[in-house]
Amino acid sequence: VSGRVEVVAGPMFAGKTEELLRRVRRAEVAGRRVEVVSHALDTRRGAGQVSSHAGAAVPSRVADRAEEVATGRDPRTELLAVDEAQFFGPELVDVVERLADDGLVVVVAGLDVTYDGRPFEPVATLSALAERADRLLAVCTVCGEDAPFHVRVVADHDDPSSATVAGHVGGAEKYQARCREHFDPVPGPA
Ligand code: ADP
Ligand code: MG
Repeated sequence: VSGRVEVVAGPMFAGKTEELLRRVRRAEVAGRRVEVVSHALDTRRGAGQVSSHAGAAVPSRVADRAEEVATGRDPRTELLAVDEAQFFGPELVDVVERLADDGLVVVVAGLDVTYDGRPFEPVATLSALAERADRLLAVCTVCGEDAPFHVRVVADHDDPSSATVAGHVGGAEKYQARCREHFDPVPGPA
């Protein structure tokens, strides 16, 4: 068994999806059987695609719940990549560990920090339990320094859609990457 967990973590715009897709391409070059999984809520390019802010995209199997990441897989899959892991919730931790125990290489990319500056599960925990965890940084939209955080630029109370999880899905129209000095999160709901 040569299973392991690799985590690609960080704030929005850090290049997590680009790194995930890079690892997927390398595994394909190596002749491994690869499966890419995304969440039904990841609709940047329409469901069924993992796409980066810079435009790269690959087709993906869509799962609604953490358990489906495992149950829906092709039994021959050797490397399983999960993007936007935060959509799957804390239940993803056990699912990923079981897959790795079963011999799969599991690459998990997602946010490990919320826009109001708190640890974000399951990626925060998976980072601690992985063979390898890389935390990538974005570029601060104010000053150009490395950005470990992101802020929501549309306040929750100005955006009715934020009452739902789906309403938090978004890109540059809703979020900006920030360094520590310029991270001044809009307080979320208590
Ligand atoms: P993530 O999955 O971490 O949100 P992506 O891999 O989708 O990030 O996109 C990273 C790309 O986003 C960068 O290569 C760059 O082209 C673009 N980008 C846009 N805004 C920023 C920013 N503030 N900081 C870094 N990259 C940015
Ligand atoms: Mg991404």
